Amino acid sequence: MPDQFDRASQLEEEERKRSLDAQRNRTNFDKPSLENCEDCDGPIPKERQAFGGVTRCVECQGFFEKTGR
Ligand SMILES: [Zn+2]
Repeated sequence: MPDQFDRASQLEEEERKRSLDAQRNRTNFDKPSLENCEDCDGPIPKERQAFGGVTRCVECQGFFEKTGR
C-alpha cells in the first residue's frame, strides 16, 4: 500500500484536532469582553475579561463547552 493513505488519515486527524481547537476557542479575541455573562447575566471576573471576547461567566462557558453549543 502506498503511504498516501497514511498521510490522508494523518491530515484528517490533524484537521479534526484543528476544528476541535477552533470550537474550543470560539471566543472572538478581537472583540471586547462583556462585563456580565450573556447567558445568566452574572458578573464576569476581570481576569477573565482580560482574555478578550469573553461573553460568558466561568460556569456558563463550561456548560457551553460541554454541550458543544
Ligand atoms: Zn453565566
